[in-house]
Amino acid sequence: MKRQRYDVVIVGGGAAGLSGALALARARRSVLVIDAGEPRNAPASHVHNYLGRESTPPGELLAIGRSEAAGYGAEIVAGRVASAERLPDAEAQGFRVVTEDGRSIEARRLLVTTGLVDELPPVPGLAERWGREVLHCPYCHGHEVADRPIGVLATGPLAVHQALMWRQWSDDVTLFLHTVPALSAEEHEELAARGVAVVDGEVAGLETADDRFTGVRLASGRVVPREALVVQARFTARSAVLESLGLKPVAQEMGGTVIGTYVPTDPTGATEVPGVWAAGNVTRLTEQVIGAAAAGLMAAGAVNGDLIAEDTRLAVAARRA
Ligand SMILES: Cc1cc2nc3c(=O)[nH]c(=O)nc-3n(C[C@H](O)[C@H](O)[C@H](O)COP(=O)(O)OP(=O)(O)OC[C@H]3O[C@@H](n4cnc5c(N)ncnc54)[C@H](O)[C@@H]3O)c2cc1C
Repeated sequence: MKRQRYDVVIVGGGAAGLSGALALARARRSVLVIDAGEPRNAPASHVHNYLGRESTPPGELLAIGRSEAAGYGAEIVAGRVASAERLPDAEAQGFRVVTEDGRSIEARRLLVTTGLVDELPPVPGLAERWGREVLHCPYCHGHEVADRPIGVLATGPLAVHQALMWRQWSDDVTLFLHTVPALSAEEHEELAARGVAVVDGEVAGLETADDRFTGVRLASGRVVPREALVVQARFTARSAVLESLGLKPVAQEMGGTVIGTYVPTDPTGATEVPGVWAAGNVTRLTEQVIGAAAAGLMAAGAVNGDLIAEDTRLAVAARRA
């Protein structure tokens, strides 16, 4: 780090953080990005639906982003922010950020882009194959498993919706009821009409061969051959830094069920704490990479506008004095 105080410290260097850094550096702000280096899509082999960079490996896309932001003077360092605090009110706003290894940096504004954690259902073997053959997002992976035998693991009320969704990519979809109660007659009719098979019984684990997922093992011992398994992860905002500033994550509902938590912001990413913005998955759980990047840009514009207002107020006060 070249200095002790920056115009903006960005916590998290994924798509949202780096996009914010690029715009702020281009706006001639001093910017420091502190990144723990664990972007959510790291297990995936490629990023899809990112216009202009379709099918780029996630690490490569971020490396390009880091180089672009650094090219305009943004500093990017590895590290994990433990907490942040608002500095006592002076004539201008300020914050102190402390990293887990004890570094302390001050900033006029904060942009927090720490993403979310995907909490997987507790079925043995799921975590090891997450992002490879254990999937959640049809837009991220559907095309890659098109026409293959796909399983959908039911763990909540959205399972039927998921099965009908993935049916768009394959006519060989099996819904494993696992731990959910029996389906309604209407749901059975919808699944049957679309040719989705339904299998009763708890799922005990995953079958693999040559480091490939090959099937779903039921508690009864029966194995149903599959090549991909869709699960409903719980999306938990990585909100610790925002919480240290007094913000609280809230539950996100979809279809009458809680799918995770997020920290609310206004449309520009402004949180309820003046001077603190958030963007990307920490505040919008369903945001894709291009949306996270767009949100980082939106927040950067708002942060710069806020700094311009403060610069002007301070200049007027100095002029009058
Ligand atoms: C398996 C999988 C595949 C996916 N595939 C696609 C796809 O093909 N296309 C697509 O558009 N989307 C895809 N997504 C979604 C995509 O991952 C997210 O949209 C995107 O990562 C959100 O960007 P972000 O910047 O908000 O968060 P992230 O990319 O998760 O970045 C957050 C960064 O902040 C860092 N961080 C967290 N806490 C701290 C801290 N305290 N201090 C410092 N740094 C911290 C993290 O280490 C991380 O580097 C996929 C998701 C998954 C799980």
